[in-house]
Amino acid sequence: MIDMRGLHKHPYYPYILSEFKESFSNDCTHNSWSKFKKLHLSITHNRCPICECKLDGSVTRETNNGLMEMNATIDHFRPKDITLYPLLKCDDKNYLVMCKDCNEAYKGNKFPLFGDQIRDITSNSTTNITTEQPLIINPIYDDLLELFILVFTSSLSGKKVLELKPKYEDGYLYEKAKETIKLFSLGNCEVDVHENDNIQNCRINLLHHHYSKFHECAKAFKLGQIKKALSIQKRYNLKNYGFYIFIQKKQFKL
Ligand SMILES: [Zn+2]
Repeated sequence: MIDMRGLHKHPYYPYILSEFKESFSNDCTHNSWSKFKKLHLSITHNRCPICECKLDGSVTRETNNGLMEMNATIDHFRPKDITLYPLLKCDDKNYLVMCKDCNEAYKGNKFPLFGDQIRDITSNSTTNITTEQPLIINPIYDDLLELFILVFTSSLSGKKVLELKPKYEDGYLYEKAKETIKLFSLGNCEVDVHENDNIQNCRINLLHHHYSKFHECAKAFKLGQIKKALSIQKRYNLKNYGFYIFIQKKQFKL
């Protein structure tokens, strides 16, 4: 997962925002909110901030109609669905780039809240919603190191995968991490199986790819072989991944 907390302070943000506002008078559309895509992707190094899949056109997955390119989409973090948060449809602070699978196949219109909280559906600005405690992380606002640890493990079928686990054992942050992992299938990936085989296979292959990419570097950090770990990091350009900060902080289990 990739920390995007610098996004709203990015020097280009005000320019994109004014372009966005000029693009519609009453109701914004896909064309308008897509204007933020490039800027979000510049922070994530062209990756999905949730699953860290590459979004530069180089990754494809099977569909019933052939291969589909994994491309970037703008998600409404609080869903714009008429029964949920329709007033946040044109709120730029509610936008978050994601790959098509994380956005449409996994998250969709889901937006669970902690405990028995009442949804604040009357606010027309994300920043005014201060009492809700969502059970989905938002990498633009949340400190990911306070929510997750990385685990190098094997799936039920024996495939080596890099998964996320909650950092804490109870409380709001635990529930939030647990629900996020389940919702996006970033852990226990062969227990909480996606109904679409193509999407499920793609996710498992991605978690396996992350394992292969990071295992050697994590092992070197664990053994105190810092020089070796840094050289692996440079060789594979691991700094561009959100995972790397977890490895550097030794927030992982081998
Ligand atoms: Zn994704």
